[in-house]
Amino acid sequence: MDKKKLKIYRDRLLDERASLLGVVGRNEDYGREADIEATQDPADKASNSYTKELLFSQSTNDRLILNQIEEALLRIEDDEFGVCVNCGNEILPKRLEALPWVRYCLNCQELQEKGLLNEEE
Ligand SMILES: [Zn+2]
Repeated sequence: MDKKKLKIYRDRLLDERASLLGVVGRNEDYGREADIEATQDPADKASNSYTKELLFSQSTNDRLILNQIEEALLRIEDDEFGVCVNCGNEILPKRLEALPWVRYCLNCQELQEKGLLNEEE
């Protein structure tokens, strides 16, 4: 992939990372505040823990994407960006434009979603 394109993807990844870090940070702050402000009212408590659950799943998802962004940035450094980490085929530019941190080509993504991909941890 040419340097100009790589730089565009890199900038997008860095932007995305910065905004995710902002979101994750805010959510964690909010979670802490909710702890402190825990009230005696059972109804309030219930809605509080519901909100916390929501925030938790949200930031888990954010963390997952953050990880993938970090990995994609490393792949840019290693000159391996834009190829599927499983089979080594090129990932369609359309896919990269939508989600620059994708790791798999369409084929392998399908396998992964079906649980058919052997992922090394
Ligand atoms: Zn693949």
